[in-house]
Amino acid sequence: MLAEKFNSFRSGPDERGHFGIFGGRFVAETLMPLILDLEKHYEAAKKDPAFKAELDHLLTHYVGRPSPLYYAERLTEQLRQKSAETGGRGGAKIYFKREELNHTGAHKINNVLGQILLARRMGKTRIIAETGAGQHGVATATACARFGLECIVYMGSVDVERQKPNVFRMNMLGAKVVPVQSGAKTLKDAMNEALRDWVTNVDDTFYCIGTAAGPHPYPAMVRDFQCVIGDETRKQMQEIEGRLPDSLFACIGGGSNAIGLFHPFLDEPSVEIYGVEAAGYGLDKQHAASLAGGRPGVLHGNRTYLLMDSDGQIEEGHSISAGLDYPGIGPEHAWLKETGRVTYLSATDAEALAAFQLCAKLEGIIPALEPAHALAKVAEIAPQKQQDHLLVVNISGRGDKDIFTVADHLGGM
Ligand SMILES: *Cc1c(COP(=O)(O)O)cnc(C)c1O
Repeated sequence: MLAEKFNSFRSGPDERGHFGIFGGRFVAETLMPLILDLEKHYEAAKKDPAFKAELDHLLTHYVGRPSPLYYAERLTEQLRQKSAETGGRGGAKIYFKREELNHTGAHKINNVLGQILLARRMGKTRIIAETGAGQHGVATATACARFGLECIVYMGSVDVERQKPNVFRMNMLGAKVVPVQSGAKTLKDAMNEALRDWVTNVDDTFYCIGTAAGPHPYPAMVRDFQCVIGDETRKQMQEIEGRLPDSLFACIGGGSNAIGLFHPFLDEPSVEIYGVEAAGYGLDKQHAASLAGGRPGVLHGNRTYLLMDSDGQIEEGHSISAGLDYPGIGPEHAWLKETGRVTYLSATDAEALAAFQLCAKLEGIIPALEPAHALAKVAEIAPQKQQDHLLVVNISGRGDKDIFTVADHLGGM
């Protein structure tokens, strides 16, 4: 391990936003004053107990936190049987961190509320956001409705067509959805458009980013807001089992639900950590696994691993799960991969579909297709662990939004 080199994995980023060679803020000069202003206000808010108290109050009474840490007994039993049949080591005890029970059905609201409270502190009245599958757009529209703020959501026109129910939801919440016609008309293009809006509306506008990516301080700020997931898990596991978990699993789109669970455990060498990217049709075909199949480059204001062609042009990711097809990944994950602290795996569409069904039938919990990717790797690795191994998988969202996609693939409707 690189333990001598990094005396703390939790210390990053440096003051310019670098996680090793990753991160930073590669933005137009016109955007710099906005980013510096945001950073200054975030640093002040972090130290203000009133800010934390207001956020905690909302997380409790509006979101419904803490989310349970649930022992998935039947999944555990099934995988222990598999362990016995395949000569495994007994099979781990599996816990679900139930982020799918949050208001709006996923972890995204944790981050959005943090950013919206910050926007209010800064006196901003107009909130902009990008969205791909629509989940971050819905969470942002929700928080804006709650605080009476104007909300504009940029969404690729292809995604507007693919994700109709979430477009209706945003409209009902009073947000304006702007279809983006440039590029591939998906998430990357929506994010470009939002950044463009931000530089042209400098006075009243706050850009609420949906994952642990973008220019510094966003990756660290979004991580901080999502750390409630890992902080709660640590406390809950202590209460239930009297010790730390042995391994953590989470799916990775941009990486926010994963870093939120992982970060509070990074300096615990006994805790194994696994991030799961979307391998789509397979790593040798179309996929969305930026770490496994991409190269370092610069996109959306930071240096990280990206899916690129040989000319350095960004390629579209593919995943059955619209929330995982971002062609990049948050810079802290790029760094955690290089340092070896986190092991990054990938699951195909087919593996995620199988895990989705397993979870629904054994636990009565329909997971989103995103965490089904993490569950797919749990199903592989849990049987190789001993029975006293405590495993936690983050169920980042619920699967109601995905039932038609799954039915299409299974030919069930
Ligand atoms: C958006 C989303 C993801 C992917 O985003 P991360 O920033 O990687 O967490 C994962 N799960 C669900 C349920 C989502 O809505």
